[in-house]
Amino acid sequence: MRVRYAPSPTGELHLGSLRTVIFDWLTARGAQDGVFIVRIEDTDQSRLVPGATERLLEAMRWMGITPDEGVYLDENGKLAEKGEYGPYIQSQRLSIYREQADRLVEDGHAYRCFCTPERLEQMRAEQQANHLPPRYDRQCRSLTREESDRRAAAGEPYVIRHAIPDSGEVRFVDLIRGEITFQVAILDDYVLLKSDGFPTYQLASVVDDHFMKISCVLRGEEWIPSLPKNILLYQAFGWDPPAFAHVPVILGPDGKHKLSKRDGDVAVLDYQEKGYLPEALCNVLAFLGWSPGTEEEFFSREELADRFRLEKVQKSPAVFSFERLDFVNGWYIRHLPITKFLEYLYPRWEKAELMEAGKLAHEIILPDNLDRYLMAVAGAVQERMKHFDETEALTHFFLRRPEVTPELVELIIPKKSDRAEILTMYAQTVEVLQNIGKNWTTEGLEEAVYAYIEENGYKKGEVLWPIRAALTGEPASPGAFEMLSVLGREESLVRLQSVLEVI
Ligand code: GLU
Repeated sequence: MRVRYAPSPTGELHLGSLRTVIFDWLTARGAQDGVFIVRIEDTDQSRLVPGATERLLEAMRWMGITPDEGVYLDENGKLAEKGEYGPYIQSQRLSIYREQADRLVEDGHAYRCFCTPERLEQMRAEQQANHLPPRYDRQCRSLTREESDRRAAAGEPYVIRHAIPDSGEVRFVDLIRGEITFQVAILDDYVLLKSDGFPTYQLASVVDDHFMKISCVLRGEEWIPSLPKNILLYQAFGWDPPAFAHVPVILGPDGKHKLSKRDGDVAVLDYQEKGYLPEALCNVLAFLGWSPGTEEEFFSREELADRFRLEKVQKSPAVFSFERLDFVNGWYIRHLPITKFLEYLYPRWEKAELMEAGKLAHEIILPDNLDRYLMAVAGAVQERMKHFDETEALTHFFLRRPEVTPELVELIIPKKSDRAEILTMYAQTVEVLQNIGKNWTTEGLEEAVYAYIEENGYKKGEVLWPIRAALTGEPASPGAFEMLSVLGREESLVRLQSVLEVI
């Protein structure tokens, strides 16, 4: 099983293309001796974006998907190639396409077209005026070979067009969609080789898929209109076509239009930057259009490769959900070993200026050595984190004492609340806490504070909320006991006292 991913380096790798890459890779991995090949389709020179090939490969590498054959990034981040069917970058294969196009001309399956851009433009305008579909009127198809050769030899510019048969049907069985039938009459004598010597997608991809011995072409359903042209071209060359599988389009969360920038970030590397895990992205995308047929939700890549079957991919479009991505990412974050989880937090703490050169950037009284303290902080937030961009929001109060501002006071004593009652409760709770000495553990804290709550007939929330707010300055945070126990006795009491002084 030889499967290729054949991107055009015209921009970033998007979620939609990444799903194709994942399906490609899983198809190759799931087969015995499967080979995953990356080929760069850079023949449309006007759309090339410098550096895009490197970025595409970098995004794939981040996902843990690296080619077995074809173009890859070496240790220095430079483009390199491996495999015996190269070159794997189309702009380096121009002589191959020229040779194959000439062969088709020779055999009568293609012809040179000398029509000028002006003539083609005028023809298009007339067709448009008459509400006819735009297509080449095949004028040059009737040139004799002698005339064609003579004009070419005289240096007249020309393109090579595929001589589409006049009538008939193309039938093909797509691995996902089943039988697809096309009427040949709807096809245009499209261009195979342009006048600058560059092939079009049609010629280059068919020639390459053949010579690179690709067994299955997996691509987005927007390529279905190309299928009859591809098949006719294989027939013209006398080659067996590979299997084709057209994967369904991915829709945005509203389920109506194709997933696009309007819906949110769609570039894969943006997700790396925002703190998503490749495993999560891989799971969510693998499930767009495919399902294992069971309730299981989380798969390692190896498990996916084991279970994935192209035949199980559905025809109907799949809907992307950012919430689902957050949910799945949260699951993967929760299942990271704590030391690994911490590794993701450090750079974000540095960036948020909460840490500097491996030390805390702000002064707080540590209950323990820094490493153990940060481990406890990580433990307090790991359950709740959906992606690492939340690091600062979820943890800043562990690394920086909240300032006692009017907003903080209002968080503790909301307008319209019973100020006197809250004050009494707060002051008494702080006193209870002050009296806890060695027993400053979650259990010890709970025992003392719950006893106080029960004695006075208060509700838990009304007593614990002001404590939590005073310790964090945030409306959302870990619970009061967890905060108290992670911050430790001294730092907690300093924070609680300084609030007491101003309210
Ligand atoms: N170069 C084409 C693209 O960008 C590849 C289509 C195919 O896989 O055949 O998307």
